Amino acid sequence: MVKEELWQAVLAQIQLNISQANFATWFKDTGITDYKEGQIIVSTPNSFAKEWLENKYGKTIFKIFYNLDKEIKEVKYVVGKSELKIIRKPSVSVSGAGQLEFEEFKIDKETNLNPRYSFENFIVGSFNELAHAAGWQVSKKPGLVYNPLFIYGGVGLGKTHLLQSVGNAVIKNFSQKKVKYIPSEKFTTGVVSSIKNHEIERFKNAYKAIDVLILDDVQFLAGKEKTQEEFFHIFNALYEENKQIIISSDRPPKAIPALTERLRSRFEGGMIGDISYPDYETRIAILKTKIQEKGINFSDEILDYIAVNIQRNIRELEGALNRLITYEKINNQPPDLEIAKSLLKTLFLSPNKVANYKKIIQAVSEFYDLKEKDLFSISRKKEVVKPRQIAMFLLRELLKSSYPFIGKKFNGKDHTTVIYSCEKIIKELKNNENLNDEIDLIKQRIFSA
Ligand code: ADP
Ligand code: MG
Repeated sequence: MVKEELWQAVLAQIQLNISQANFATWFKDTGITDYKEGQIIVSTPNSFAKEWLENKYGKTIFKIFYNLDKEIKEVKYVVGKSELKIIRKPSVSVSGAGQLEFEEFKIDKETNLNPRYSFENFIVGSFNELAHAAGWQVSKKPGLVYNPLFIYGGVGLGKTHLLQSVGNAVIKNFSQKKVKYIPSEKFTTGVVSSIKNHEIERFKNAYKAIDVLILDDVQFLAGKEKTQEEFFHIFNALYEENKQIIISSDRPPKAIPALTERLRSRFEGGMIGDISYPDYETRIAILKTKIQEKGINFSDEILDYIAVNIQRNIRELEGALNRLITYEKINNQPPDLEIAKSLLKTLFLSPNKVANYKKIIQAVSEFYDLKEKDLFSISRKKEVVKPRQIAMFLLRELLKSSYPFIGKKFNGKDHTTVIYSCEKIIKELKNNENLNDEIDLIKQRIFSA
């Protein structure tokens, strides 16, 4: 195991044993800087963290290391910035922009897996390292470590890539295992048509024969009770036989509206890992790795320009690169900064990237599975009151709308009511991590809609 992977394996186990808050506090920005002759050097961001890890978690950490690798005799802690954890493989055959479509044809009919997605070309940074570590562990021991594995995060941040990497790795590691990747919408269609054709038992039995079932974008099962019911049965059957279930969603289980309680609690019963946003350095690293894979070089200024302007979506980072790559192919030389700016201008300035009233209302009501008119109603039901307050808060925060203006939009409410709502959300944001997550996800919808 290379040191990055080793540390991720250790982190994945530690995370199981301590609270999320402690984990985030003490293990953020740690890494392995050196591993030789049985000695591991773990870097920590400051002396406080160093002492804490040494004194409080030292024994546990050592034990986990030792279990993973019996050669390890000693773990030392130092203060120092850990390098970005990037796993590079020079030999990936990801080719020019034009070949992408061609690769789509290689999707395996049985498993629905696309060989383009692998751990080798999945870049790891602090924004996704836990999700990655958990996925990695699952690919080594399907059904035995985290079951189910539930990965959530916003659009274009690598959920599908990670899930498919796990599937591809399982097939590589265990050639006899049956893996199936299925987008939730396709699963729903399957349920509906097999009910219609009186084949639901056959449909379910086929799923029950699978060893690793990967269900992507499970938020699309929201409100589809019959599909949820069938999935619940399949889930239980697989789970009881220690078969691995991997699920992704754009939000955590508790934030999926109209999900039956029993399914929600199943989802929460295993490991939940989130993917957040890559920071600037990671975005640069992603861009560099992607152009390296394609054997192309763009200036640092250009990469900086892209990374500054695209912050929340890896697919869009790729899109920007592809535009420049096309230019390079046609002109046989890379663009300079000015040309790059003009090539990318339309991407960054696209009206999609700006928040407006309509998008905010739409994103909030979609996220909470409400009709827009419910948001403006006078209902005092909890399911409506909170989203309404969030909508007001976002109108204020993102558009700087005046309180009276917002009040008028919401059924002529008094501006003091609006102030109260906004302040309530601001206060809650201070100590409710889930609300933070939810609002992040909503913003992401607003800006990517
Ligand atoms: P999601 O399913 O979360 O919407 P995808 O998995 O489809 O996102 O990722 C969008 C694009 O970004 C894909 O082309 C994927 O290969 C790429 N991508 C996402 N995360 C990473 C990563 N960590 N390393 C390399 N490429 C990534
Ligand atoms: Mg996806």
